[in-house]
Amino acid sequence: MTTPIVRRSPTHRATVLGAVDLTPRMRRVTVASDAMRDVQLRPAQDVELHLRTDEGRRVKRRYTIAQARPQAGELDLDVLLHGDGPGARWGAVAGPGDEVEFQGPRGKLELRSAPWHLLAGDESALPAIAAILAALPPGEPAQAFVEVTDTDDELPGLPVTWVHRGDAAPGGPDVLDAALATFPLPPGAGHAYLMGETRAVVALRGALERRGVAHESVFVKGYWNLGRPDRLANRPPT
Ligand SMILES: Cc1cc2nc3c(=O)[nH]c(=O)nc-3n(C[C@H](O)[C@H](O)[C@H](O)COP(=O)(O)OP(=O)(O)OC[C@H]3O[C@@H](n4cnc5c(N)ncnc54)[C@H](O)[C@@H]3O)c2cc1C
Repeated sequence: MTTPIVRRSPTHRATVLGAVDLTPRMRRVTVASDAMRDVQLRPAQDVELHLRTDEGRRVKRRYTIAQARPQAGELDLDVLLHGDGPGARWGAVAGPGDEVEFQGPRGKLELRSAPWHLLAGDESALPAIAAILAALPPGEPAQAFVEVTDTDDELPGLPVTWVHRGDAAPGGPDVLDAALATFPLPPGAGHAYLMGETRAVVALRGALERRGVAHESVFVKGYWNLGRPDRLANRPPT
């Protein structure tokens, strides 16, 4: 009998350099790690932070690398302060000198050339959407819809259409679905990127497919699960 090979991505250590409020609910935490020096990153890759619950249980939470300065091994992570959870709590208090372990960079998203691109997601996907927009070739038009609570959550200067949920609860597909329905799909085989609450983005993919977008032309990634902690919460870090 042969012993199976278990491949585990290595765990690295980072130090928090500082944090700034981008909006009242989004905090940019800058970390530095020698392991990230000169690492080539693809757009919207993420790191998986090793954090702890209130009870001290070890959990992992993933955050997109919003910006990086590879020469210095620095990563900016934009953490949504959505309420209660080890990730949101870490983002709210992380300060200079704090240490955090992580794995990564990781993420399977690959940009595909297409005559047009459609991006949609909630606040948790904003760093990824911004990174993808910045990386798409100038000749390929892109339209992005980002669902936020209200104008307070909007980041200035980003070429996205902000969609307000107002008093509606986050995590449902309806608000983005209505916004996307107003977007006339251009001719040609465009490519869509949907990121946010898992069931919501699956529902949005269904709506796009019913409008003729091919299944394989839609990248879907569940970023969180409504009403329950990240699925890795009970799994010990490898
Ligand atoms: C590849 C990838 C990249 C990601 N990048 C980012 C990023 O750059 N910035 C970012 O903020 N998040 C990002 N996320 C999402 C983030 O990992 C999840 O939101 C995560 O669940 C937050 O962990 P937590 O400990 O705060 O909450 P959890 O312990 O996971 O959940 C606690 C409660 O909060 C709710 N909840 C979790 N997330 C949200 C949310 N976004 N909005 C409303 N309610 C929520 C849950 O339903 C649950 O009820 C990313 C996820 C993935 C998979």
